Amino acid sequence: MSLIQCKECGHEMSTKAKNCPQCGAVAAYRWGIGRIIMAIIILFFVLAIFLPMITDKKNVIDINGADSMDAYIAATNFVRAKLANPHTAKFYAHIGSDIKKLSNDTCSVASYVDSKNDFGGEVRIYFTVKMKHLSNKKWKLLDLRMNRE
Ligand SMILES: [Zn+2]
Repeated sequence: MSLIQCKECGHEMSTKAKNCPQCGAVAAYRWGIGRIIMAIIILFFVLAIFLPMITDKKNVIDINGADSMDAYIAATNFVRAKLANPHTAKFYAHIGSDIKKLSNDTCSVASYVDSKNDFGGEVRIYFTVKMKHLSNKKWKLLDLRMNRE
């Protein structure tokens, strides 16, 4: 048997006592290990259901079987092909990109890339790619716009 102090009078009392034997104050509610485990299990279920909805909405989109990451990679390949010095291109994580589903099999990807121009200066180019997912990660380019900052 372990003892705790009464929160009202400080008298020592059993952890199992419902009331303090000295002043009669109701003991603070104590969680048993069973209830703690149950609470953790419930918390896991709640997180498993709601966390993906909150954190990764973008990856939920389905463009004729492709997800937003597939779309981003395809878009960067279309942009890379248009750059003066593609080997200097630095794309950024697709997290900051704006990927929108336009129809069942088309989407737009807006983001930016840093690359070197013909004079060796680094320029940031914003791009918007509209494309259609044919199948098996094969995409058809519909529209590509690139603008300097
Ligand atoms: Zn007490």
